[in-house]
Amino acid sequence: MNSTKPSKVRRDDDDVDPFMTKLSRKNGEVNRMRIAALRKKLFDNQLSSDGTDKVLQRRLKNFYKRQLYAESQRQISQPSLEYIAVIDFEATTEETKGFDYPHEIIEFPIVLIEVKNVSVIGEFHEYVKPVLNPKLSKFCRTLTGISQKLVDRADEFPQVFARAVKFLEERVFGTKWAILTDGPWDMSRFLFKQCELSGVPFPRWARKWINIRKVHANYYNVGKPKKIMLMLEDLGLKFDGSLHSGIDDTRNIARIALSLLEDGCDIVTNERLLEPVENEEKSIANSYKRKNLEAQRKSNDSKTVNLDDNQETLASLHAQLHGLEVSKTKRRIRRKEIAPDHNSEEEDTESLLRYFSLQT
Ligand code: AMP
Ligand code: MG
Repeated sequence: MNSTKPSKVRRDDDDVDPFMTKLSRKNGEVNRMRIAALRKKLFDNQLSSDGTDKVLQRRLKNFYKRQLYAESQRQISQPSLEYIAVIDFEATTEETKGFDYPHEIIEFPIVLIEVKNVSVIGEFHEYVKPVLNPKLSKFCRTLTGISQKLVDRADEFPQVFARAVKFLEERVFGTKWAILTDGPWDMSRFLFKQCELSGVPFPRWARKWINIRKVHANYYNVGKPKKIMLMLEDLGLKFDGSLHSGIDDTRNIARIALSLLEDGCDIVTNERLLEPVENEEKSIANSYKRKNLEAQRKSNDSKTVNLDDNQETLASLHAQLHGLEVSKTKRRIRRKEIAPDHNSEEEDTESLLRYFSLQT
């Protein structure tokens, strides 16, 4: 009698990487640990035992992973980025105004992280004088702690921006680096709008960034992305300074980024600007390139370069074969889009002749 029961699948242990088996066994062990056991294990291994159970689990898993890699003499992959530039702008605002308020950047802080050493290696910090609404609202002053005097004494955006770019240029341009922000708004809204307003080309490097809320939520497996205070709380940390002060926000966001790096997270860009950028560096460079190319083509076209007999034949055959105008095909030959060198030209002619004769 035929049995309908599926036959047992035999696990072929030869196919299973013993290293991966060990790793998943360790991860399973960590998943089953209570918070007290997690803390003890971390403490015994001289690691921080601050944070929620999810954070502690991830930290311990990372520790075991590194340990297993070292034991098996496997190379752990290098981090994707060399530097991370944390930015948190403050902007003019009014309590009652909605999303359409023309925010202008009034505080421009950068905290630069070197990924390799998991450390802060520099800071840039300047205030910015707003132009559309030069008088800060009381609400804005209270929220950000920025006084009227501070912005009155400051330079306008283009000058401050130029110095910020110089700061980055001297430290990270040419390396693998990215901007990191708390949410998508700093680049997609504040910098984007400010560049438009000030007539400054939107930089290419600001089109992609790291939204730390997403990195934190995914890496520690804590559900929905959270605000700075709650991310810090998960890590068992407290906010240092005043919330909504640009430099204090930036330093605290950097602390979260450092914790993620310390816990083995490979931080990479996870958001980008979707809107087309009119005044972006790249599109400007491309439009110059396009204009140059067009000018070059026009000048080539206007040149009445005589084609040799072989090229003339090729032009007429190619045109007939593809149902094209002979003059257009000749232009393509002059631009060297067809038959770039003499040998291939002969070959082309030969094969075209052969093809053509077969068709007629
Ligand atoms: P943040 O990075 O959260 O400090 O906010 C950046 C900017 O967003 C602030 O400088 C304000 O311009 C604006 N902003 C933040 N929170 C509020 C709020 N509750 N009401 C109005 N504007 C706000
Ligand atoms: Mg802020």
